[in-house]
Amino acid sequence: MENNKTYRLVIAGFGGMGSYHGQLVEQAGGIAVHGVYDPIEYRMELARSRGFQTYDSFEAVLEDSEVDIVLIATPNDVHKELSIRALQAGKHVICEKPVTIESAELTEIMQAAKQANRVFTVHQNRRWDEDFLIVKDLFDKKKVGDIFHLESRVQGANGIPGDWRQLKAYGGGMLLDWGVHLLDQLLLLTDSQIHSVHAELSYILGTEVDDGFTATIKFKDGLTAVIEVGTTNFVKLPRWYVKGTEGTAVIRDWDLSGEIVTRNREVEHVEPKPIQAGKGLTKTMAPPSEESTLRAAIERVEDLSDSFYDNFVAVLEGTSTTAVPNSEVHRVLTLIETIFESAASESVIVKEF
Ligand code: NAD
Repeated sequence: MENNKTYRLVIAGFGGMGSYHGQLVEQAGGIAVHGVYDPIEYRMELARSRGFQTYDSFEAVLEDSEVDIVLIATPNDVHKELSIRALQAGKHVICEKPVTIESAELTEIMQAAKQANRVFTVHQNRRWDEDFLIVKDLFDKKKVGDIFHLESRVQGANGIPGDWRQLKAYGGGMLLDWGVHLLDQLLLLTDSQIHSVHAELSYILGTEVDDGFTATIKFKDGLTAVIEVGTTNFVKLPRWYVKGTEGTAVIRDWDLSGEIVTRNREVEHVEPKPIQAGKGLTKTMAPPSEESTLRAAIERVEDLSDSFYDNFVAVLEGTSTTAVPNSEVHRVLTLIETIFESAASESVIVKEF
């Protein structure tokens, strides 16, 4: 990408994700890691071993006039405070997801960004995931007809990872952790408003925060979605299950294995044959006849042309708008709040947004 300068970015929080950002920045053009700040000394040593200069305090980062961008990859509870301080010090800010624990906190950050005339965006990186882009393509090209139901899941058997993710005060829990990604993807698939939300959180592991959840979301246009995150699943259900008026698609896992089965409109319909099912016979539940259906493997789609960082640099250069608008992130947080509300009240929340 051609641009006028190399923007200097400091990583605040050099844990798992902060150090990964180091690699992401290196792969992009027009931007470079200028330094790292983390309150834990061994994280700073790690940063130095990768050739990054380190700062003694967050204040020192803000005082360095050479720093253009602060990337915040700390536990969730301090995202708001660090973001606002960095914006007020004249820095552009990229914040990790979930941007904040409540939507009102994001509103405060957005106001601070406006006042400081600086760019603020959230690293909702799963907008770039190929499995999601394949489902988006199914929607856009109506490859299984009009989609009326989808299920999107991530499931593991390893419990809630780490330490702070198990604690409420740090914004822990799987709804905020993984839910934010799946809900962000869902809201990009349809232009429709949400009609209602029903959800349950799970506490199988005995932690003070949810170790998973299931949410059923109905949209005004009739689309229904089941979104599920689990950390106690030794056998997992498919990553995506999508039903349309002309067929069904399944993507089983991150390896993009799966299939699309559609009605064959080119031939005369052939009734399925009854099958033995348990101790009985059924035609209703028999698979559709081979003659009347088309089967295809999941087709790969192209990556989005700009990476997250390419887009961010283009925004700073004034040649693009942000790939993750704050208004969309705000709507995801409102949905998360509605899911918490439904789970706590054990009821369907009917609310248009
Ligand atoms: P982590 O525990 O591995 O690292 C967090 C780091 O932040 C630690 O090194 C800690 O010392 C440091 N820290 C704590 N308070 C700080 C402060 N006030 N200032 C500077 N640094 C501070 O956690 P992680 O897994 O790297 O998660 C960090 C953030 O990244 C979270 O918000 C998480 O949700 C997000 N994350 C995003 C993705 C993604 O795919 N987008 C993946 C993993 C994590």
